[in-house]
Amino acid sequence: MIEFVVKGEEFGDLAALGISYGLSITFRRVLAVGDFEREWIYAVMETGVWGAMLLSPCPDGLPCFRDPERAVEFSESRQTPVGYSGEEPAAVPYRISTFNKNYLKPRRWIRCRDISSDKSYLPLFACIYNLLKLRDDVPIVVSDVCLGFNEAERPDFQALPTYIQPRALADVVDVSVQPIPASAIARGILLGGYKAGPVVAISKVADHAAAELGGYLVDLNAPGDPCELFARGTVGYSPSLFSGRYLVDPDLCDRCSDCFITNCDALKQGERGVPELLSSCVGCGACALMCTRGAIWREGDLFKVFLR
Ligand code: SF4
Ligand code: SF4
Repeated sequence: MIEFVVKGEEFGDLAALGISYGLSITFRRVLAVGDFEREWIYAVMETGVWGAMLLSPCPDGLPCFRDPERAVEFSESRQTPVGYSGEEPAAVPYRISTFNKNYLKPRRWIRCRDISSDKSYLPLFACIYNLLKLRDDVPIVVSDVCLGFNEAERPDFQALPTYIQPRALADVVDVSVQPIPASAIARGILLGGYKAGPVVAISKVADHAAAELGGYLVDLNAPGDPCELFARGTVGYSPSLFSGRYLVDPDLCDRCSDCFITNCDALKQGERGVPELLSSCVGCGACALMCTRGAIWREGDLFKVFLR
């Protein structure tokens, strides 16, 4: 029984595959119809599906079925997309959206090629981290960009998502399956009925459908403040909002180490645990966003405080 038929002619082929992939994350059974490039299909195969994903017409290299029930069974049991060459079945709801305790333990699906090793995305992820840490539900963050992982921290596809406290800003992203756009995957997760927490898309493709379905969108092509995400629903990202020359006030620092969650190599543990900003600091502002004690401040902002 197929629950959703998603057509490339309606959404565009890449977005249709992304929506289908998001639906499969919510254990849905989906038939995607379109002209899907081999590279996109490999990306899905590498990370695996949870529900059933049938692709029509049958792509080269995938098992091809004519019987939808056999195709669904094969796809669900092997957690892989399969080809389908039969009649287009009617979409029939099969599952009720329930998110039980097991569901709250999805693995991470990270296949992020667009890994940023510069610091321009640090404030973005600091904002998202700070927003998520206040929640007690299970957010899913789908992103087109990731922060660089060092080898020790590279996800193993079985790591737990954001309901377990991330240890670094790089851990904020739960799903990234390049080249499939985050906004399309998030749209599929929302269409699949995910309600255990907010679905956040950090996307280079400004598709606002995910936000219209109740999700949250960071549009990387638009200016704005990502720290306002949950207040606004859709935000842009302007690194310049956070940039400047930053200083540490040792008297305000209580040595909590929160600023080190940035994993920034320009931040060093100095005397008695007080952080030091090295000359390689580019002034992105992420460590200041992490410090809730106001011990890291931007030059100039202090004057604003005095002038109030
Ligand atoms: S987050 Fe602030 S208070 Fe905590 S160690 Fe860093 S500078 Fe000090
Ligand atoms: S030390 Fe500099 S570069 Fe590193 S997070 Fe802080 S402001 Fe950004």
